[in-house]
Amino acid sequence: MSDDTTITTDTRTTDSAGFTATVPGVARIGANRELKRAVEAYWAGRIDAAALTRVATGIRRDSWSRLIDAGFDSVPVNTFSYYDQVLDTAVMLGALPPRVAAIDDPLDRYFAAARGTAGGPGPDIAPLEMTKWFDTNYHYLVPEIGPDTEFILDPGAVLDEIAQAQAQGVPARPVVIGPITFLALAKAVDGGPAPLTRIDDLLPLYTELLGRLAQTGVDWVQIDEPTLVTDQADGLTDLAERVYGVLSAVRTRPRILVQTYFGDAGDRLAALARTAVEGVGVDLVTGSPDTVRTADLTGKLVVAGVVDGRNVWRTDLDAALAALESLRAHAGALAVSTSCSTLHVPYTVRGEFELDPVLHGWLAFAEEKFGEVAALARALAHGRDDQACRFEAARAALASRAADPRVHVAAVRERLAGLTPADWTRSPAPDRREAQDAALGLPVLPTTTIGSYPQTVEIRKARLALRNGTIDSAAYRSRMEQEIAAVIALQEQVGLDVLVHGEPERNDMVQYFAEQLDGFFATAAGWVQSYGSRCVRPPILFGDVRRSSPMTVGWITYAQSLTEKPVKGMLTGPVTILAWSFVRDDQPLAETARQVALAIRDETTDLERAGVPIIQVDEPALRELLPLRTADRAAYLDWAVTAFRIATGGVGDATAIHTHLCYSEFGEVIGAIAALDADVTSIEAARSHMEVLDDLDAAGFAAQVGPGVYDIHSPRVPAADEMAASLREALDAVRADRLWVNPDCGLKTRRTDEVTAALRNMVDAARRVREEI
Ligand code: GLN
Ligand code: ZN
Repeated sequence: MSDDTTITTDTRTTDSAGFTATVPGVARIGANRELKRAVEAYWAGRIDAAALTRVATGIRRDSWSRLIDAGFDSVPVNTFSYYDQVLDTAVMLGALPPRVAAIDDPLDRYFAAARGTAGGPGPDIAPLEMTKWFDTNYHYLVPEIGPDTEFILDPGAVLDEIAQAQAQGVPARPVVIGPITFLALAKAVDGGPAPLTRIDDLLPLYTELLGRLAQTGVDWVQIDEPTLVTDQADGLTDLAERVYGVLSAVRTRPRILVQTYFGDAGDRLAALARTAVEGVGVDLVTGSPDTVRTADLTGKLVVAGVVDGRNVWRTDLDAALAALESLRAHAGALAVSTSCSTLHVPYTVRGEFELDPVLHGWLAFAEEKFGEVAALARALAHGRDDQACRFEAARAALASRAADPRVHVAAVRERLAGLTPADWTRSPAPDRREAQDAALGLPVLPTTTIGSYPQTVEIRKARLALRNGTIDSAAYRSRMEQEIAAVIALQEQVGLDVLVHGEPERNDMVQYFAEQLDGFFATAAGWVQSYGSRCVRPPILFGDVRRSSPMTVGWITYAQSLTEKPVKGMLTGPVTILAWSFVRDDQPLAETARQVALAIRDETTDLERAGVPIIQVDEPALRELLPLRTADRAAYLDWAVTAFRIATGGVGDATAIHTHLCYSEFGEVIGAIAALDADVTSIEAARSHMEVLDDLDAAGFAAQVGPGVYDIHSPRVPAADEMAASLREALDAVRADRLWVNPDCGLKTRRTDEVTAALRNMVDAARRVREEI
């Protein structure tokens, strides 16, 4: 290679510096969650910064080696993060919030922005807000951009990673989040304008960055712009053309790959094609090859994400190769990749020894996907026969999945086919209200809680002991029953009107159900990062879903047997179960949702039959699955609402259906909340001063509502006065006969003493306000 590390703007064609196989990014938590342990040890003061850095260096070295071993000729670098890649970008652009500026040590400043400093020695600093990364289950930290935010380039971290990679002989391709995405994900603070209006302030920094990267000798830089597959802002097509027109006009720079993922880039791809960037990355799992064919990319490298980076299934290599071949004439050069970073899938299936070997053969986690990418790249270059064994194995896995009796269960399919709208349409709400009032006899402003009570150390120990075999299931059951009895006693003492069993038996609100339903399996070590050091192990929904026996009835009826007060049954809704699992990719999500809904329906009707008068079906993830493109949203909301209604539509008028949503910014979901047709809906409201009630009203929501009167995310115990004031505020928007009194969310993360004090005050507040009406 000659001096092609720096190029000039008239270089429109790719050349020998193109590459053939890569991924947009990889996980960084470590194959055995080494980073989680190290970061948590650092926070606890058990290890120092040098020890943490050593772990980080080791993780990077190891993940690059895996990519090299897989045969990749370009390796993403700077996808490592101690906490979050958006926070890293804020550091790179000098955009940390001013409140952390006084912390001298850069690492501690970084963690302060991520987690806050409550409980530490200095003054309390609030962390950045956290929210979902597009439509995934990864959470990023939301940068705050105020009118005084001055951007200053700090490329230290990316330059250091490049140096480490080059020292290891890795063909490094640094990855940074692009200016459009960074600003679109940020929020305005201190009365500043929408962050995206600051785009021209960022371009000089990216220009400078390109120059610094050129000096390191890297051939390519990958600039991630997933925002280009969304409708997050108006004018994104023009903006993309302008921003990448400017950046590709920088004289001294590496080649630029603009990477999109999580959807089809549509006409934004054509806009990028009109600039002088040398490459574009596209998601061909959620996006269409037609978009690539329509954009004029014949002068550019197209990095084709044909292997699903977010799901766990083995790739149909024949179909992927066909898609690649169909693009050959429409691209200057083609490279094979995953559709997005493999951050969203576990490291490898190799450790899953306990898994049914048939199921094992269907799966591809990150490392197996690297192998698929490499095989496709070789097949593209040398023909399919070069990789005959791999293609044969992929075909066999696919055939095994298609033929497996657990994947297509006739009874499930027949039952679904027989469903009609009558099955998900309950009587008019006023009729139900009358029947429920007669059955329950609750006071006005009834008090209740959202479901979980503190998950104590003893509960966790018992669960571990059951798993390790040190106690048997009878002993486990009796320990859980003790816990339920304690929670019932607590609620009676405090004086709540509608009680719950407390959910002690649930490790997780989705996993608990997945473990009992046919069509799901759990992994032993399938960890993925959720945020920071937190990892989750999503269940895998592989086949037709069916409930073989009741999942919650025993616990709830036990709780009911201990009290005269009504006990509320507690279930997770179909949309949330899907959202927090890996789902099958061989049928539309809407169909899978209906199967899960039928299984939950069996549980609601069994609970009713067992005498449970109120059943809550939680759907905290309803908003999360909302499609990134506006045009796709109506169809989603339609099937999501139908699934909930199938799950809850089998009970009689006198059975009250409650639902719980964890947030108050409903946005476009607001109409759907009314359409769920629940009798009572509890939502978060404590932090937003009950404003959500007006929004609900405007959306035509007329049912009963429980706006959270206290924030369970904080250990603070609010005074009765405070909660009474919130209730009075709520009464400005909602008539008393529609209002419930409850906390914002479940109490599982709190301590028992906090919960007891807070609930006492809450009941006290309800009593006071009742007397005023
Ligand atoms: N019933 C659940 C609980 O109380 C609801 C949790 C949630 O909304 N995420 O924990
Ligand atoms: Zn909640």
